[in-house]
Amino acid sequence: METTQESQQSIVKAAWNKRPLIISGPCSAETEEQVLATAQRLANTGKVDMLRAGIWKPRTKPGMFEGIGAKGLPWLQQAKKLTGLPTTVEVATGKQVEDALTFDVDVLWVGARTTVNPFSVQEVADALRGVDVPVLIKNPINPDLELWQGAVERVARAGIKDIGLIHRGFSSYGNTEFRNAPMWHLAIEMKRRMPGTPIINDPSHICGRRDILLATAQKAIDLDFDGLMIESHIDPDNAWSDAKQQITPERLAEMLDEIVWRREDVSSETFHIALDKLREQINHIDDELMQLISQRMHIAEKIGTYKKNNNVTILQANRWNEILDKAVKKADKLSLSEEFVTRYMDAIHMESINRQNKIMND
Ligand code: PEP
Ligand code: MN
Repeated sequence: METTQESQQSIVKAAWNKRPLIISGPCSAETEEQVLATAQRLANTGKVDMLRAGIWKPRTKPGMFEGIGAKGLPWLQQAKKLTGLPTTVEVATGKQVEDALTFDVDVLWVGARTTVNPFSVQEVADALRGVDVPVLIKNPINPDLELWQGAVERVARAGIKDIGLIHRGFSSYGNTEFRNAPMWHLAIEMKRRMPGTPIINDPSHICGRRDILLATAQKAIDLDFDGLMIESHIDPDNAWSDAKQQITPERLAEMLDEIVWRREDVSSETFHIALDKLREQINHIDDELMQLISQRMHIAEKIGTYKKNNNVTILQANRWNEILDKAVKKADKLSLSEEFVTRYMDAIHMESINRQNKIMND
């Protein structure tokens, strides 16, 4: 498939603007045959918009497979020629940006381990000056939205216009259900902060395993993400990196069929009327909740004054345990989860303590 530079650019723009945007390909490019076969099988599904492959792999421990390096770039070029799929690669240094662009990689992405480091992000941004290439920026491995936003700003200041976000979850200590905790509220907050910026979800690195990939992808779509980046491999079990989370191109296609694709909005009038009514109810309840919480805080302040006058400590563990215990028991009856009620009560309690503290020390 011969394409001029100009028509390639419009193919890339079309893919970039497609919703949902589906990016797939191996965690790592391993051999030419593997890259070409994966690309071909992905293209055969007709459901994938862009081919990903890690060329340089930032691995946690030395001695793990650290990527095939620049020698894999011509394979991607070849894969694009074979399938027409635009390509995307992770870059972490100025030299990698340069190499990727030399081999016509269409979209670059900044990995989670790079987003945490402003020196590296700046180096990547500097290498991008004067180049018109879309860039995706993964969330940093730690849950720090400023850092994520800072990376976006550095790349934007280098003159890159097409910037997107990838939510790949946040690392935490110990074994949990997820390899990287999704902390969906952080992705939602980024969407709120950057409304015009597309955000796609990477369930592969969130899950770290296959069995919960679909549910996680579905959740992202339910939350109105703009697309998905999912790792795929022709022989997942024998992948040189991230073997546990990769799936075959055919399984990917099945999964994409199983997802219920939801739209943010529909135009039907009856739908809107019904929705508006329910939203009005919610607004009303939110108002009432807020007023009640405000009342609660005023009472807490009165207690604070009373404690101060009687030289009593703010925190009385027994009393707090009692309240929490009662709340959790009640929650069950009201079909509220224990986790939610505990978090909610903790937030209320913290605010009460802060208020009382102020009174004590005034
Ligand atoms: C990857 O996409 O293969 C990768 C290394 O991801 P992350 O930066 O999210 O860890
Ligand atoms: Mn990976």
